Amino acid sequence: MSFVSFDFHPRIAAGIRAAGYTVPTPIQTQAIPPILQGRDIIGLAQTGTGKTAAFALPILQRLMQGPRGRVRALIVAPTRELAEQIHDAITELGRETRLRSATVYGGVSLQPQIARLRTGVEIVVACPGRLLDLLGQRAIDLSHVEMLVLDEADRMFDMGFLPDIRRILKQLPAERQTMLFSATMPDDIRQLTAEILRRPVTVQI
Ligand code: AMP
Repeated sequence: MSFVSFDFHPRIAAGIRAAGYTVPTPIQTQAIPPILQGRDIIGLAQTGTGKTAAFALPILQRLMQGPRGRVRALIVAPTRELAEQIHDAITELGRETRLRSATVYGGVSLQPQIARLRTGVEIVVACPGRLLDLLGQRAIDLSHVEMLVLDEADRMFDMGFLPDIRRILKQLPAERQTMLFSATMPDDIRQLTAEILRRPVTVQI
């Protein structure tokens, strides 16, 4: 199988080539088609499987159509390192698309993040605590989010982020596509998926 069969926009196909990807990984083969169809998804996969591109490529594809300059995709991750990795992957794969991504996490000053958000980005990669700070200050508008990714959900749960996630979910449109990735499926995560995903497709690697 090759990436050509997914029929990505030529500008995204160019990003895939520039990243040096030729053959999709198993999670990409299984997850990309349902995500492109707009389905909710549970991805049981660890880091190193190619899961980032599995959600990033369909997000880029959808964002090629429709308005720019507003946040339409939100990716929530447990750590700043993971947030930066996801942002870097999106920047690389989306290099020809002119779509823009911003990172939001604590431990660094707020102002540069607020300034970047004000420039109008379509994708935000965020850690929960800082995202809630920005929401509290009305420095970010999530009312146009069409796609939500919860990445490494089990780790977010272990780190005690579940209440924060629930607070963030309240600020998002109910009508959206939700994707949850987790290496394991403890009961609390399973319960969360039952609450927030609609008829999800489960992909397990
Ligand atoms: P991830 O699991 O998303 O952290 O990805 C692990 C690594 O695999 C990253 O360095 C990606 O750039 C790389 N990668 C993802 N998909 C592919 C692919 N289809 N072909 C080659 N490398 C890939």
